This record gives sequence, structure tokens and C-alpha cells, in this order.
Amino acid sequence: MTTRGGNGGGGRRRGGRRFTPRRRVCFFCVDKVESIDYKDINLLRRYISERGRIEGRRRTSVCARHQRLLATALKRARHIALLPYSAEHVRTLTGAV
Ligand SMILES: [Zn+2]
Repeated sequence: MTTRGGNGGGGRRRGGRRFTPRRRVCFFCVDKVESIDYKDINLLRRYISERGRIEGRRRTSVCARHQRLLATALKRARHIALLPYSAEHVRTLTGAV
């Protein structure tokens, strides 16, 4: 069979970053994440909308398994007040006369 990686004056250019559009592989699967850290707000933030709600799977392209882990992590983060339950209740509180 052909030998791979032979650097014998080939006409192959390297450095061409192959960008695959619309990859449906979930971000966590790629990283082989087994559990999502609920203290990692920077990460979790990416998966919540402006209103503090968990973004849908279609928008985040996270697989079902990780979406579940993510949801759990988000809920934990909310519980210890790292993330808001919703952005709207903040307004209600400030509007108290
Ligand atoms: Zn996944």
C-alpha cells in the first residue's frame, strides 16, 4: 500500500486550514468532556440567552447527552447565584416602590 507522510517533494501545500461548515459535532464531545463544571461561568454563559435562559439545542449544536449535562450545570450555577434565573426579575426587584 501507499506509505503515508512521505515528504518526498510532493506538490501538497500545507497550512490549508480545512474549515468544515456546519459541523454537527457537539463542542463537548470534541473535547471529550465527561462532566461540565458549573463554576465555569464563561463557558456556561455561551449557552444562555440574554434573558438568562438555556439556549436550545438547535442553536448551540450540543448533543443530547451534553445538553443535559449543561442544563444541570446551569441549574447548579443558578442555585449558587453565579448565573441569573432570568434577567427580567432583576427589573421587578429594582422597580419596587
Ligand atoms: Zn456531546
